[in-house]
Amino acid sequence: MEKQQFKAESKRLLDLMINSIYTHREIFLREIISNASDAMDKLAYIALTDNAVGLDRSDFAITITRDEENRTITVSDNGIGMNKAEMEENLGTIAKSGSLKFKQEMEKQEDIDIIGQFGVGFYSAFMVASSVTVISRKYGEDTAWKWVSDGAEGYTIEETTRDAAGTDVIMTLKADTEEETYSEFLKEYELRSLIKRYSDYIRYPIRMEVTKSRPVEAEGEEEPKYEEYTELETLNSMVPLWQRAKKDVTEEEYESFYREKFFDYNTPLRTIHTSAEGAVSFKALLYIPGKAPYDFWSKDYKHGLQLYSSGVMIMENCADLLPEHFRFVRGVVDSQDLSLNISREMLQHNRQLTIIARNIEKKIKNELKAMLTNDRENYEKFFDAFGRQLKYGAVAEYGSHKEMVQDLLLFYSHKQGKRISLQEYVDAMAEGQEKIYFVPGENRDRLAKLPQVETLTKRGYDVLLFTEEVDEFIPQTLMTYAEKSFCNASSEDLGLQTEEEKKEAEEKAEQLKGFLTFVKESLGDSVKEVRLSANLGSHPVCMTPEAGMSFEMEKYMKKANPEFAFPVGRILELNPEHSAVQALQRAMTEDPVRAKDYALLLMYQAQLMADLPIDDPTTYTELVCKLMQ
Ligand code: ADP
Repeated sequence: MEKQQFKAESKRLLDLMINSIYTHREIFLREIISNASDAMDKLAYIALTDNAVGLDRSDFAITITRDEENRTITVSDNGIGMNKAEMEENLGTIAKSGSLKFKQEMEKQEDIDIIGQFGVGFYSAFMVASSVTVISRKYGEDTAWKWVSDGAEGYTIEETTRDAAGTDVIMTLKADTEEETYSEFLKEYELRSLIKRYSDYIRYPIRMEVTKSRPVEAEGEEEPKYEEYTELETLNSMVPLWQRAKKDVTEEEYESFYREKFFDYNTPLRTIHTSAEGAVSFKALLYIPGKAPYDFWSKDYKHGLQLYSSGVMIMENCADLLPEHFRFVRGVVDSQDLSLNISREMLQHNRQLTIIARNIEKKIKNELKAMLTNDRENYEKFFDAFGRQLKYGAVAEYGSHKEMVQDLLLFYSHKQGKRISLQEYVDAMAEGQEKIYFVPGENRDRLAKLPQVETLTKRGYDVLLFTEEVDEFIPQTLMTYAEKSFCNASSEDLGLQTEEEKKEAEEKAEQLKGFLTFVKESLGDSVKEVRLSANLGSHPVCMTPEAGMSFEMEKYMKKANPEFAFPVGRILELNPEHSAVQALQRAMTEDPVRAKDYALLLMYQAQLMADLPIDDPTTYTELVCKLMQ
């Protein structure tokens, strides 16, 4: 059977194309400029083998002309141009890409880096223009052609003249409406910024007449007068920094690029300029900032890297390129290997992005690690700004990224009086020490005075003071570090007793069972349990949370999610060797009423030490006064 061709309602198709492919109207300029660049690439390619072209790479340029009165923007190039047949083929057929064909017909395709491929970009002009005129003369031919269309209704072609090979695309902007001010695009400033944003790295100069002013000398007048004049200026940078060899880029250039691009007047702490070849080739220029932007911790902060495909900006903040734990990194990635979707706003395959992202993640980690080891001062600065982000990264998603960040974390070491990494803690562990000790709490000085910390310090063991809320979640997520387990010194068994000592302690508890029961009964429901402890050193008592929980966690939950907050069971630990506890013991038999007051008083002390609020300060005060009298 004979196959029938699909028919397309071209008017509707064009309408669909124009209005539904792109989310930002402003990209029309990017598309038209990219076409001009492609056309010059093609002629430059021919010039390599054909001297008759008579043009050097440096002779190629794009010129933008704006005419506010007639509402036109013209993009001119001196590229390969089109003849009548090509205009019909390329501009008269939707989804026909002359550029893709050119590339496919070339022997060595990798030699040319042409942007066009879908054959739709040109029509984006109709998002802003009511009519588009293309005047073009093909290289090697004498006749020029003028193609005119006002979109849906079709087009006309007639003969015209043009001095040399090349193309002018003249867009007459639509009339302004209430929703859309198309005339914005006629403003010098707007065009300038669109070119900067999307086409800064087109390899040919993009020139435009710009208005400037200069002082004029007028005799006898004090105030200098200014006159306006126009000048043809190149608006794009052309060669992106990241495409240049590292050795050719100065530190200053890297820094000023960072400042301009990311609107941060602070100097970045580190610059990573890297490239990779392989399954997906790319170049990247990444920065580790020294300060968090003001909105960094808010939902509004957009993280991600700027993504370019062959020098054309595709995405402003490509979040898929950066893992959450490194979201503070700023930078750009440029790859020729991306399969873009038709609007070139998105990518078709995430696989390519994933490969780049993984590679970048490793590079960032290595850079931070190197900074931690060799440049501690700057690392501390970095950690002040973004350490919390790394800690969140360690605990996020059930710790699935812990391998990537655990070596980069710093905690305050009680023994060394400064921040250290977990590796440094383990390396400095004392003879016989089995665990990584930490205590959570808000205030470093207070934590340092905890009885358990005193006990550990006496043994020469270091204790990490966890003063950030997220700190306490880290041992739970990491479970171990360098095969050492973590121990919350304020709530868990310190594991210091020998078997013999343990046995002794049990016997002692058995002996004092009556005493412990008395104290528990005196305190009622205020505590869950009363027990002896051998870790209290010179302190009489301490308040310990029930196993698996901590008072800090209780406070945190209360703040973060009051609905799910619950009180953590309090356990009062007594030091049987302390004279105050012994006094309580004596009072139990001599004056039970007084003994009850002693028990209460010690409980309050324990609460204060643990930084727990006292529910009823009046009772506490009265109690102290009573005992003093
Ligand atoms: P694409 O750029 O993806 O190929 P377009 O719709 O933007 O698709 O352009 C269609 C075709 O028109 C191009 O492939 C090219 O052959 C031709 N073309 C567009 N602009 C120009 C130009 N300035 N000079 C020469 N040819 C052009």
